[in-house]
Amino acid sequence: MSGLIDLHCHSTASDGTLRPAELVKRAREQGVELLALTDHDSVQGIAEASDAARMHKLELVAGVEISVSWRSHTVHILGLDMNPGHAGLQEGLAWLAQRRVARARRIAAKLARHPGLEDAWEAAVGLASCEAVTRTHFARLLVQRGLAGDMGVAFKRWLGRKGKAFVPGDWASLEQAVGWITAAGGLAVIAHPARYRMTHTRLAELIEDFKRAGGVGLEVVSSAHSPQERASMATLARRHGLLASAGSDFHAPGNPRVELGRGLELPQGCPPIWVHFGRGGTAALCVGS
Ligand code: AMP
Ligand code: MN
Ligand code: MN
Ligand code: MN
Repeated sequence: MSGLIDLHCHSTASDGTLRPAELVKRAREQGVELLALTDHDSVQGIAEASDAARMHKLELVAGVEISVSWRSHTVHILGLDMNPGHAGLQEGLAWLAQRRVARARRIAAKLARHPGLEDAWEAAVGLASCEAVTRTHFARLLVQRGLAGDMGVAFKRWLGRKGKAFVPGDWASLEQAVGWITAAGGLAVIAHPARYRMTHTRLAELIEDFKRAGGVGLEVVSSAHSPQERASMATLARRHGLLASAGSDFHAPGNPRVELGRGLELPQGCPPIWVHFGRGGTAALCVGS
């Protein structure tokens, strides 16, 4: 494949700003030939994205980014190339969506105590245009209302761990998330592993738990990773016998550092995960240890 590959991005089915069809069109314009749509805890954008992909002659694989609580951390697990209609996966995601709504309501209740945010719930639902209300939607609201200068500030002062309206997530277990993905014929990948601020020991423990559950990949290349982090994640993937993935984690146009397909080449010597697509999730059998 001569074109670009991007295996991590978001549409309006979660916290992205482009509709699935717009996202696919933009990806094609950027030179992407293989794209995975990986909305948070949702596969509802896949049908529209598939139709657009057929029109724009781009190869789309069904994906998802599942929120997981592991020890005291929130970890994101990507599912790639699975059957989005699989009943077990859909049930799991529906259960997770309920948890997301409950948490979003608690965040909204905290925000509503502040002048100018009394309608935080209704406003965030309005911004979401899908059932998944994420912290990104609350952050956009805070920026719109002039209560945060930018998204970074919104997370720091309001929505992040030390923020005024922080509510920890209570998400799926690692075993549940990897189980749903693999049952649906997909490959499970640890998203942006260098972003969790874990010690090397802790990250190695996460990887071992993940592999025991049936996980096969590590997102070595992400817009969230520096060049040094890409190199160290490549070493980690090799050491643990994981396939390497690459994704922009694109959410919205306008950030020059994050564009669909841009700057996502794998470091040398990383076995690419996409070679195993279309094989019904049997790649686990091919991964050396
Ligand atoms: P949630 O799943 O509701 O906890 O929302 C998590 C989402 O918030 C992530 O997927 C990111 O898109 C976004 N996010 C987290 N931290 C930041 C940040 N510091 N700046 C901008 N967006 C962020
Ligand atoms: Mn997001
Ligand atoms: Mn993520
Ligand atoms: Mn993401």
